[in-house]
Amino acid sequence: MTFSELGLSAPILALAKAQGYESPRPIQAAAIPVILAGKDVLGIAQTGSGKTASFALPILQLFQQKPPAKNRHITALVLVPTRELAMQVGEVFQLFSERLPRPVKCLSVFGGVSINPQMIQMQGVEILVATPGRLLALVESKAMSLSEVDVLVLDEADKMLNMGFRDEMNSIFRLLPEKRQNLLFSATLGKEVNTITEMLLHDPIKIEIAQEVENLDLIHQTGYFVTEARKGPLLRYLIKSQNMQQVLVFTSSIHKADLVAHKLKKNGIQALALHSEKSQGARTEALRYLKSGEINVLVATDLASRGIDIPALPFVINYELPRSPKDFIHRIGRTGRAGVEGRAITFVEKAEEPHFYVIQKKMKKRVEMVETDEFDLQGY
Ligand code: AMP
Repeated sequence: MTFSELGLSAPILALAKAQGYESPRPIQAAAIPVILAGKDVLGIAQTGSGKTASFALPILQLFQQKPPAKNRHITALVLVPTRELAMQVGEVFQLFSERLPRPVKCLSVFGGVSINPQMIQMQGVEILVATPGRLLALVESKAMSLSEVDVLVLDEADKMLNMGFRDEMNSIFRLLPEKRQNLLFSATLGKEVNTITEMLLHDPIKIEIAQEVENLDLIHQTGYFVTEARKGPLLRYLIKSQNMQQVLVFTSSIHKADLVAHKLKKNGIQALALHSEKSQGARTEALRYLKSGEINVLVATDLASRGIDIPALPFVINYELPRSPKDFIHRIGRTGRAGVEGRAITFVEKAEEPHFYVIQKKMKKRVEMVETDEFDLQGY
Protein backbone atom coordinates (compact mmCIF):
# COMPACT_ATOMS: atom_id res chain seq x y z
CA MET A 1 0.00 0.00 0.00
CA THR A 2 1.31 3.45 -0.91
CA PHE A 3 0.13 6.89 0.21
CA SER A 4 -0.85 7.75 -3.35
CA GLU A 5 -3.39 4.89 -3.40
CA LEU A 6 -5.28 6.46 -0.50
CA GLY A 7 -6.73 9.38 -2.47
CA LEU A 8 -4.47 12.06 -1.02
CA SER A 9 -3.61 14.98 -3.28
CA ALA A 10 -0.14 15.67 -4.68
CA PRO A 11 0.80 18.51 -2.28
CA ILE A 12 -0.06 16.37 0.76
CA LEU A 13 1.78 13.38 -0.68
CA ALA A 14 4.86 15.56 -1.19
CA LEU A 15 4.72 16.84 2.39
CA ALA A 16 4.28 13.31 3.78
CA LYS A 17 7.32 12.22 1.80
CA ALA A 18 9.32 15.20 3.05
CA GLN A 19 8.43 14.10 6.60
CA GLY A 20 9.96 10.70 5.92
CA TYR A 21 6.56 8.98 5.80
CA GLU A 22 7.50 6.38 3.22
CA SER A 23 4.42 4.22 3.35
CA PRO A 24 1.18 4.48 5.30
CA ARG A 25 0.83 2.85 8.69
CA PRO A 26 -2.09 0.38 8.95
CA ILE A 27 -4.33 2.92 10.71
CA GLN A 28 -3.58 5.45 7.97
CA ALA A 29 -4.23 3.01 5.15
CA ALA A 30 -7.58 2.16 6.72
CA ALA A 31 -8.76 5.57 7.95
CA ILE A 32 -7.65 8.05 5.28
CA PRO A 33 -9.95 6.91 2.43
CA VAL A 34 -12.91 6.63 4.82
CA ILE A 35 -12.40 10.12 6.23
CA LEU A 36 -11.96 11.56 2.73
CA ALA A 37 -15.32 9.98 1.84
CA GLY A 38 -16.91 11.97 4.67
CA LYS A 39 -17.80 8.98 6.85
CA ASP A 40 -17.69 8.73 10.64
CA VAL A 41 -14.84 6.66 12.06
CA LEU A 42 -14.33 4.68 15.23
CA GLY A 43 -10.59 4.04 15.43
CA ILE A 44 -9.17 1.71 18.04
CA ALA A 45 -5.46 2.45 18.01
CA GLN A 46 -2.64 3.30 20.38
CA THR A 47 -0.45 6.34 20.45
CA GLY A 48 2.56 5.55 18.32
CA SER A 49 0.44 3.85 15.66
CA GLY A 50 0.45 6.93 13.43
CA LYS A 51 -3.13 7.83 14.28
CA THR A 52 -2.55 11.58 14.31
CA ALA A 53 -1.63 11.72 10.63
CA SER A 54 -4.48 9.30 9.91
CA PHE A 55 -6.95 12.08 10.67
CA ALA A 56 -4.82 15.21 10.15
CA LEU A 57 -3.93 14.49 6.51
CA PRO A 58 -7.47 13.83 5.23
CA ILE A 59 -8.89 16.72 7.26
CA LEU A 60 -6.35 19.09 5.70
CA GLN A 61 -7.15 17.73 2.27
CA LEU A 62 -10.88 18.30 2.81
CA PHE A 63 -10.03 21.86 3.77
CA GLN A 64 -8.44 22.43 0.37
CA GLN A 65 -11.96 22.59 -1.14
CA LYS A 66 -13.57 24.58 1.67
CA PRO A 67 -14.23 28.31 1.45
CA PRO A 68 -12.52 30.25 4.25
CA ALA A 69 -14.50 30.15 7.48
CA LYS A 70 -16.03 33.22 9.06
CA ASN A 71 -13.55 34.79 11.40
CA ARG A 72 -13.50 33.24 14.87
CA HIS A 73 -15.62 30.33 13.66
CA ILE A 74 -13.56 27.18 13.74
CA THR A 75 -14.65 24.41 11.39
CA ALA A 76 -12.58 21.46 12.65
CA LEU A 77 -12.32 20.71 16.35
CA VAL A 78 -9.93 18.16 17.83
CA LEU A 79 -10.56 17.39 21.49
CA VAL A 80 -7.67 15.86 23.41
CA PRO A 81 -7.20 14.97 27.09
CA THR A 82 -3.83 16.57 27.86
CA ARG A 83 -1.67 19.57 27.18
CA GLU A 84 1.10 17.28 25.83
CA LEU A 85 -1.21 15.64 23.33
CA ALA A 86 -2.64 19.04 22.33
CA MET A 87 0.85 20.24 21.49
CA GLN A 88 1.80 17.04 19.67
CA VAL A 89 -1.34 16.94 17.56
CA GLY A 90 -1.10 20.68 16.86
CA GLU A 91 2.44 20.19 15.63
CA VAL A 92 1.40 17.53 13.13
CA PHE A 93 -1.32 19.82 11.74
CA GLN A 94 1.07 22.77 11.57
CA LEU A 95 3.79 20.76 9.89
CA PHE A 96 1.48 20.17 6.96
CA SER A 97 -1.02 23.01 6.99
CA GLU A 98 1.24 25.97 6.42
CA ARG A 99 2.73 24.66 3.21
CA LEU A 100 -0.46 23.67 1.42
CA PRO A 101 -1.85 25.54 -1.61
CA ARG A 102 -4.69 26.68 0.64
CA PRO A 103 -2.97 27.21 3.99
CA VAL A 104 -5.07 26.42 7.02
CA LYS A 105 -4.48 28.12 10.35
CA CYS A 106 -4.30 25.67 13.24
CA LEU A 107 -3.93 26.38 16.94
CA SER A 108 -3.52 24.29 20.09
CA VAL A 109 -5.05 25.51 23.33
CA PHE A 110 -4.93 24.01 26.82
CA GLY A 111 -5.24 25.05 30.42
CA GLY A 112 -2.52 25.88 32.90
CA VAL A 113 -1.34 28.90 30.92
CA SER A 114 -2.79 32.38 30.49
CA ILE A 115 -5.92 32.49 28.33
CA ASN A 116 -5.38 35.98 26.89
CA PRO A 117 -2.71 35.15 24.30
CA GLN A 118 -4.88 32.23 23.15
CA MET A 119 -7.84 34.57 22.68
CA ILE A 120 -5.74 36.87 20.52
CA GLN A 121 -4.27 34.01 18.49
CA MET A 122 -7.74 32.73 17.69
CA GLN A 123 -7.98 35.24 14.83
CA GLY A 124 -8.39 33.32 11.56
CA VAL A 125 -8.08 29.87 13.15
CA GLU A 126 -9.93 27.11 11.30
CA ILE A 127 -8.62 23.98 13.03
CA LEU A 128 -8.52 24.04 16.81
CA VAL A 129 -6.88 21.38 18.97
CA ALA A 130 -8.10 21.80 22.54
CA THR A 131 -8.46 20.28 25.97
CA PRO A 132 -12.12 20.38 27.09
CA GLY A 133 -11.90 22.82 30.01
CA ARG A 134 -9.95 25.48 28.18
CA LEU A 135 -12.15 25.16 25.12
CA LEU A 136 -15.26 25.93 27.18
CA ALA A 137 -13.51 28.89 28.81
CA LEU A 138 -12.66 30.27 25.36
CA VAL A 139 -16.25 29.82 24.16
CA GLU A 140 -17.55 31.56 27.27
CA SER A 141 -15.26 34.51 26.74
CA LYS A 142 -16.52 34.73 23.14
CA ALA A 143 -13.04 34.21 21.73
CA MET A 144 -14.59 31.98 19.07
CA SER A 145 -17.68 30.03 18.14
CA LEU A 146 -18.28 26.32 17.58
CA SER A 147 -21.45 26.84 15.54
CA GLU A 148 -19.75 26.08 12.20
CA VAL A 149 -17.79 22.97 13.21
CA ASP A 150 -18.20 20.31 10.54
CA VAL A 151 -15.51 17.86 11.68
CA LEU A 152 -15.14 16.72 15.28
CA VAL A 153 -12.23 14.53 16.38
CA LEU A 154 -12.11 12.96 19.84
CA ASP A 155 -8.55 11.80 20.33
CA GLU A 156 -7.76 9.34 23.14
CA ALA A 157 -11.44 9.34 24.10
CA ASP A 158 -10.88 6.68 26.79
CA LYS A 159 -8.28 8.82 28.50
CA MET A 160 -10.50 11.88 28.28
CA LEU A 161 -13.26 9.97 30.07
CA ASN A 162 -10.87 8.49 32.64
CA MET A 163 -9.72 11.98 33.46
CA GLY A 164 -13.29 12.96 34.31
CA PHE A 165 -14.05 15.21 31.33
CA ARG A 166 -17.47 13.68 30.70
CA ASP A 167 -19.51 16.77 31.69
CA GLU A 168 -17.28 19.15 29.76
CA MET A 169 -17.50 16.91 26.71
CA ASN A 170 -21.31 16.89 26.89
CA SER A 171 -21.39 20.69 27.18
CA ILE A 172 -19.16 20.94 24.11
CA PHE A 173 -21.28 18.51 22.07
CA ARG A 174 -24.34 20.69 22.76
CA LEU A 175 -22.57 23.66 21.15
CA LEU A 176 -21.87 21.85 17.89
CA PRO A 177 -24.13 21.85 14.84
CA GLU A 178 -26.09 18.67 14.26
CA LYS A 179 -24.63 17.91 10.84
CA ARG A 180 -20.95 17.09 11.00
CA GLN A 181 -18.40 14.33 10.52
CA ASN A 182 -17.28 12.59 13.73
CA LEU A 183 -14.00 10.75 14.25
CA LEU A 184 -13.37 9.00 17.54
CA PHE A 185 -10.03 7.47 18.46
CA SER A 186 -9.45 5.42 21.56
CA ALA A 187 -6.83 2.92 22.72
CA THR A 188 -9.51 0.83 24.38
CA LEU A 189 -13.23 0.24 24.17
CA GLY A 190 -15.20 0.29 27.40
CA LYS A 191 -18.70 1.01 28.60
CA GLU A 192 -18.19 4.77 28.68
CA VAL A 193 -16.51 4.95 25.29
CA ASN A 194 -19.34 2.85 23.87
CA THR A 195 -21.94 5.27 25.23
CA ILE A 196 -20.19 8.21 23.57
CA THR A 197 -19.75 6.24 20.38
CA GLU A 198 -23.45 5.43 20.21
CA MET A 199 -24.40 9.01 20.97
CA LEU A 200 -22.02 10.70 18.54
CA LEU A 201 -21.22 8.48 15.60
CA HIS A 202 -23.52 7.80 12.66
CA ASP A 203 -22.92 4.48 10.91
CA PRO A 204 -19.25 4.62 11.79
CA ILE A 205 -16.62 2.59 10.03
CA LYS A 206 -14.82 0.71 12.77
CA ILE A 207 -11.08 0.40 12.37
CA GLU A 208 -9.22 -1.71 14.86
CA ILE A 209 -5.45 -1.83 14.79
CA ALA A 210 -3.90 -4.71 16.69
CA GLN A 211 -1.13 -3.89 19.14
CA GLU A 212 2.06 -3.54 17.12
CA VAL A 213 3.85 -5.95 19.41
CA GLU A 214 1.53 -8.65 20.56
CA ASN A 215 3.21 -10.66 23.26
CA LEU A 216 6.87 -10.54 24.23
CA ASP A 217 6.47 -13.83 26.14
CA LEU A 218 6.29 -15.69 22.84
CA ILE A 219 9.70 -14.39 21.78
CA HIS A 220 12.72 -16.39 22.94
CA GLN A 221 15.63 -14.03 23.13
CA THR A 222 19.37 -14.57 23.16
CA GLY A 223 22.14 -11.97 23.14
CA TYR A 224 25.58 -12.62 21.69
CA PHE A 225 28.58 -10.58 22.78
CA VAL A 226 30.55 -10.01 19.59
CA THR A 227 33.06 -7.56 18.17
CA GLU A 228 32.12 -5.48 15.14
CA ALA A 229 34.67 -7.38 13.02
CA ARG A 230 33.15 -10.78 13.83
CA LYS A 231 29.48 -9.83 13.33
CA GLY A 232 29.39 -10.79 9.64
CA PRO A 233 30.91 -14.27 10.15
CA LEU A 234 28.75 -14.85 13.27
CA LEU A 235 25.61 -13.96 11.32
CA ARG A 236 26.46 -16.38 8.52
CA TYR A 237 27.47 -19.05 11.04
CA LEU A 238 24.11 -18.79 12.85
CA ILE A 239 22.08 -18.80 9.65
CA LYS A 240 23.91 -21.80 8.23
CA SER A 241 24.43 -23.88 11.37
CA GLN A 242 20.81 -23.47 12.44
CA ASN A 243 19.52 -23.81 8.88
CA MET A 244 17.44 -20.62 9.19
CA GLN A 245 15.06 -20.35 6.27
CA GLN A 246 13.34 -17.04 6.97
CA VAL A 247 15.17 -14.30 8.82
CA LEU A 248 14.70 -10.58 9.25
CA VAL A 249 18.00 -8.88 10.08
CA PHE A 250 18.06 -5.31 11.38
CA THR A 251 20.86 -2.80 10.89
CA SER A 252 20.94 0.83 11.93
CA SER A 253 21.92 2.37 8.60
CA ILE A 254 21.05 1.99 4.94
CA HIS A 255 24.71 1.53 4.09
CA LYS A 256 25.07 -1.32 6.57
CA ALA A 257 21.89 -3.01 5.34
CA ASP A 258 23.28 -3.00 1.78
CA LEU A 259 26.67 -4.24 2.96
CA VAL A 260 25.31 -7.09 5.09
CA ALA A 261 22.96 -8.25 2.30
CA HIS A 262 25.81 -8.13 -0.21
CA LYS A 263 28.14 -10.20 2.01
CA LEU A 264 25.41 -12.79 2.64
CA LYS A 265 24.87 -13.20 -1.09
CA LYS A 266 28.61 -13.53 -1.67
CA ASN A 267 28.55 -16.36 0.84
CA GLY A 268 25.75 -18.21 -0.90
CA ILE A 269 22.83 -17.05 1.27
CA GLN A 270 19.86 -15.59 -0.64
CA ALA A 271 19.37 -12.11 0.79
CA LEU A 272 18.07 -8.66 -0.10
CA ALA A 273 18.20 -5.26 1.59
CA LEU A 274 15.05 -3.30 2.47
CA HIS A 275 15.39 0.41 3.18
CA SER A 276 14.06 3.82 2.28
CA GLU A 277 16.38 4.31 -0.70
CA LYS A 278 14.78 1.35 -2.45
CA SER A 279 11.75 2.06 -4.62
CA GLN A 280 8.36 1.07 -3.27
CA GLY A 281 8.20 -1.62 -5.95
CA ALA A 282 11.54 -3.09 -4.93
CA ARG A 283 10.48 -3.13 -1.28
CA THR A 284 7.18 -4.85 -1.94
CA GLU A 285 9.00 -7.38 -4.08
CA ALA A 286 11.66 -8.05 -1.43
CA LEU A 287 8.98 -8.73 1.17
CA ARG A 288 7.15 -11.02 -1.21
CA TYR A 289 10.35 -12.96 -1.89
CA LEU A 290 10.95 -13.48 1.83
CA LYS A 291 7.37 -14.63 2.36
CA SER A 292 7.51 -17.05 -0.57
CA GLY A 293 10.92 -18.45 0.35
CA GLU A 294 12.71 -17.18 -2.77
CA ILE A 295 15.12 -15.43 -0.43
CA ASN A 296 15.95 -16.46 3.12
CA VAL A 297 17.15 -13.20 4.60
CA LEU A 298 15.88 -9.65 4.45
CA VAL A 299 18.20 -7.00 5.88
CA ALA A 300 16.14 -3.98 6.93
CA THR A 301 16.50 -0.60 8.59
CA ASP A 302 14.07 0.59 11.27
CA LEU A 303 12.24 3.00 9.02
CA ALA A 304 11.51 0.28 6.49
CA SER A 305 10.42 -2.12 9.22
CA ARG A 306 7.23 -0.24 10.08
CA GLY A 307 4.26 -2.20 8.95
CA ILE A 308 6.26 -5.34 8.09
CA ASP A 309 3.99 -8.24 8.85
CA ILE A 310 5.27 -11.67 7.87
CA PRO A 311 3.02 -14.44 9.16
CA ALA A 312 4.85 -16.81 11.54
CA LEU A 313 8.28 -15.24 10.96
CA PRO A 314 10.61 -17.51 12.97
CA PHE A 315 13.75 -15.35 13.35
CA VAL A 316 14.70 -11.75 13.94
CA ILE A 317 18.37 -10.83 14.29
CA ASN A 318 19.56 -7.45 15.52
CA TYR A 319 22.89 -7.03 13.75
CA GLU A 320 23.20 -3.65 15.42
CA LEU A 321 21.36 -2.29 18.45
CA PRO A 322 18.88 0.48 17.77
CA ARG A 323 19.20 3.60 19.88
CA SER A 324 15.62 3.53 21.11
CA PRO A 325 14.13 0.70 23.20
CA LYS A 326 10.85 1.32 21.36
CA ASP A 327 12.49 0.46 18.06
CA PHE A 328 14.04 -2.63 19.63
CA ILE A 329 10.66 -3.85 20.83
CA HIS A 330 9.14 -3.09 17.47
CA ARG A 331 11.90 -5.03 15.69
CA ILE A 332 11.67 -8.19 17.76
CA GLY A 333 7.89 -7.95 17.68
CA ARG A 334 7.98 -8.90 13.98
CA THR A 335 8.25 -12.47 15.34
CA GLY A 336 6.18 -14.18 18.03
CA ARG A 337 2.91 -13.02 16.45
CA ALA A 338 -0.57 -14.55 16.29
CA GLY A 339 0.22 -17.05 19.03
CA VAL A 340 3.25 -18.54 17.20
CA GLU A 341 6.58 -18.59 19.06
CA GLY A 342 9.62 -16.91 17.59
CA ARG A 343 13.29 -16.26 18.25
CA ALA A 344 15.11 -12.95 18.51
CA ILE A 345 18.90 -12.81 18.49
CA THR A 346 20.78 -9.64 19.34
CA PHE A 347 24.44 -8.84 18.65
CA VAL A 348 25.93 -6.71 21.40
CA GLU A 349 29.38 -5.16 21.45
CA LYS A 350 30.93 -5.07 24.92
CA ALA A 351 30.78 -1.28 25.02
CA GLU A 352 27.03 -1.41 24.33
CA GLU A 353 26.25 -3.57 27.37
CA PRO A 354 24.87 -0.67 29.46
CA HIS A 355 22.62 0.43 26.59
CA PHE A 356 21.34 -3.11 26.11
CA TYR A 357 20.65 -3.21 29.83
CA VAL A 358 18.44 -0.11 29.45
CA ILE A 359 16.56 -1.80 26.62
CA GLN A 360 15.97 -4.90 28.74
CA LYS A 361 14.68 -2.77 31.59
CA LYS A 362 12.27 -0.98 29.26
CA MET A 363 10.85 -4.20 27.84
CA LYS A 364 10.84 -5.78 31.32
CA LYS A 365 12.63 -8.88 30.05
CA ARG A 366 16.08 -10.25 30.87
CA VAL A 367 18.01 -11.55 27.91
CA GLU A 368 20.47 -14.40 28.38
CA MET A 369 23.90 -13.45 27.03
CA VAL A 370 26.35 -15.77 25.28
CA GLU A 371 30.10 -15.11 24.86
CA THR A 372 31.28 -15.84 21.31
CA ASP A 373 35.09 -15.38 21.58
CA GLU A 374 35.55 -19.14 21.52
CA PHE A 375 33.28 -19.71 18.50
CA ASP A 376 35.30 -20.96 15.55
CA LEU A 377 34.03 -18.77 12.71
CA GLN A 378 36.70 -19.81 10.22
CA GLY A 379 35.16 -20.27 6.80
CA TYR A 380 32.04 -18.19 7.50
P1 AMP B 1 1.18 8.99 16.53
O1 AMP B 1 0.63 7.63 16.79
O2 AMP B 1 0.26 9.81 15.71
O3 AMP B 1 1.62 9.65 17.78
O4 AMP B 1 2.50 8.82 15.60
C1 AMP B 1 3.66 8.19 16.03
C2 AMP B 1 4.90 8.58 15.23
O5 AMP B 1 4.89 7.99 13.95
C3 AMP B 1 5.09 10.06 15.00
O6 AMP B 1 6.39 10.38 15.41
C4 AMP B 1 4.96 10.25 13.49
O7 AMP B 1 5.83 11.24 13.01
C5 AMP B 1 5.34 8.91 12.96
N1 AMP B 1 4.62 8.55 11.72
C6 AMP B 1 3.30 8.67 11.50
N2 AMP B 1 2.99 8.17 10.30
C7 AMP B 1 4.12 7.72 9.74
C8 AMP B 1 4.44 7.06 8.50
N3 AMP B 1 3.51 6.78 7.60
N4 AMP B 1 5.73 6.75 8.28
C9 AMP B 1 6.67 7.02 9.20
N5 AMP B 1 6.44 7.62 10.36
C10 AMP B 1 5.17 7.96 10.65
